Order: sequence, then C-alpha cells, then structure tokens
Amino acid sequence: MFGKWYESTCIKIEAVNDTVRRFWLRLPVEAVAFKAGQFVTLDLPISQRRTQRWRSYSIASAVADVAIAPNVIELVIVRLENGAGTTYLFDQFKEGDVVKVREPQGQFVLNEAHLQEELCFVCTGTGVAPFRSMLREISAKKLVDAPMHLIFGTRYEEGLLYRAEFEALAAANENFHYYPVLSRASAADWTGHRGYVHAVYEELFRDKRPANFYLCGWNIMLDEAKERLKNMGYTPQQIIMESYG
Ligand SMILES: Cc1cc2nc3c(=O)[nH]c(=O)nc-3n(C[C@H](O)[C@H](O)[C@H](O)COP(=O)(O)OP(=O)(O)OC[C@H]3O[C@@H](n4cnc5c(N)ncnc54)[C@H](O)[C@@H]3O)c2cc1C
Repeated sequence: MFGKWYESTCIKIEAVNDTVRRFWLRLPVEAVAFKAGQFVTLDLPISQRRTQRWRSYSIASAVADVAIAPNVIELVIVRLENGAGTTYLFDQFKEGDVVKVREPQGQFVLNEAHLQEELCFVCTGTGVAPFRSMLREISAKKLVDAPMHLIFGTRYEEGLLYRAEFEALAAANENFHYYPVLSRASAADWTGHRGYVHAVYEELFRDKRPANFYLCGWNIMLDEAKERLKNMGYTPQQIIMESYG
C-alpha cells in the first residue's frame, strides 16, 4: 500500500463527552506536512491481517498549530459500539503509547478556486474534524473574504464539538456563521436549530446563489445532502465530500 508509515507517540487524550475523545499524536518532523482536510491512517493492534488493522481519522488541527506544538496532530474520534478500532482506542490506548501512522493523505482539501466564493461546510459529529482544521487554516492565513458557513449536526448539546471555538470565531469574524443543529435536543432552553442539517442549508441557500458545499461524515447524511443539493441545482463540482463510511 502506498504512503510511508511512521511511529508516533500519543501525548494526550481528553474526553469531550461520554463517546468522543480528542487524541494528540507526536509524529516525526518529516511526517507532519499536511493540507487542512487530510486524514491519517492508524495501524491498530486489532487483527493479524494488516489491512484489517487500519483505521483512518481526519486531522482536526491545522498546519499552523504545528508551530505551536511541534510535530503534533490532533484527532477527534467517536466510540462506535462494538467497533474494533474505537474499542481499542477507548479501552486500551493511553498516553505514552506508540502507534504506527501513515503519512497524511486525501483529496478533501480546500480548492483554491473556491476561496473567493461562498463556502458552506456541512457535517455531523466527528465529521467536523476536517472543517475545524480548514477553519483554523483560513483564519490563520486570512484565506477567505467571502461568507463561510458551518452547519454542524449532532444529537445533544454535549455533542457540539469545538463549540466555544466556533462561537468565538463567529464573534470575531463577521464572514463566519456557525449553525449548530440538534436532532434530539432535550433542553427546553435550546433556542438554536432543531432537526437535521438539511433544512438549514436549504433555507440558507433557498435563493440558490453560487456557493460550494463541503460535506463530511457518514454516508447516510452525505447521500441525502448530495441528493438535496443536486435538486437545488448545484453541480457535482460544487459538492465536495469526505465519507467516513
Ligand atoms: C477518510 C476517513 C476519515 C475519518 N475520520 C474520522 C474522524 O476524524 N473521526 C472519527 O470518529 N471517525 C473517522 N472515520 C471513521 C473511522 O475510520 C472508523 O471507521 C471508525 O472509527 C469506526 O472504526 P471501528 O473499528 O471502531 O469500527 P468497525 O469495527 O470498523 O466498524 C465500522 C462499521 O460501522 C460503520 N460506522 C462507523 N462509525 C459509524 C458511525 N458513527 N455511525 C454509523 N456508522 C458507523 C462503518 O461504516 C463500518 O461499516 C474516518 C473514516 C475515513 C474513511
């Protein structure tokens, strides 16, 4: 299989809520060159067969973060019930452990031609990871002048990953708009969007103005979003996707 493998050390693990954790890995210096939106593949000790041990995770940190914490990347991972890889990562993997990581890969990166046009990022759960990386990159380098929207779906308020960061970004940058959407909001005081991400971009872009949509998460959300955006008149070139499976 293509791509170089490196030994990395886990330097920190932090629980965000009951099912999501952030993992920080330190890589050799030559392994940390990546573009916002790319992913790494971990070789986990969960099978005798090499390819059955591999699990991919989007890099949630930005290239600029590497200057602050040298050679460190951040991953944000949700535990999947009975999932072989995540059961290992949540129940056995700990700070100080070494794991093999394949060099960053993937085509889900910001297209330069899209930086002058309105951008809409749509995700559910840990599908926010590549967008967190892209938004940190965009902010650090002031790459985009056009409006940017992040529509982030999850079940409950506890699932709003990086909420404070996105709220701060929205407060500091009038071009950035953050739309958290809760499908099972229990709190009566939740005044934000309820339901699924789809209704939010359909309403936001009901005038069908030019925009590029970046979608990330599991196929059930991606397939529906692709179909709905197509029905709104957006072309395949305007819909860029990363599937988690
Ligand atoms: C390019 C890429 C980037 C990814 N980035 C991330 C990331 O940043 N964070 C992250 O948490 N995961 C990410 N994933 C998913 C990750 O690679 C694993 O599939 C996931 O962690 C489950 O692995 P597992 O071994 O626990 O489950 P497995 O034992 O491999 O079982 C996985 C099965 O469950 C499905 N599945 C997995 N997760 C879910 C889910 N939440 N909801 C519904 N079905 C699911 C898969 O399609 C598959 O059929 C990414 C996947 C890809 C391909």
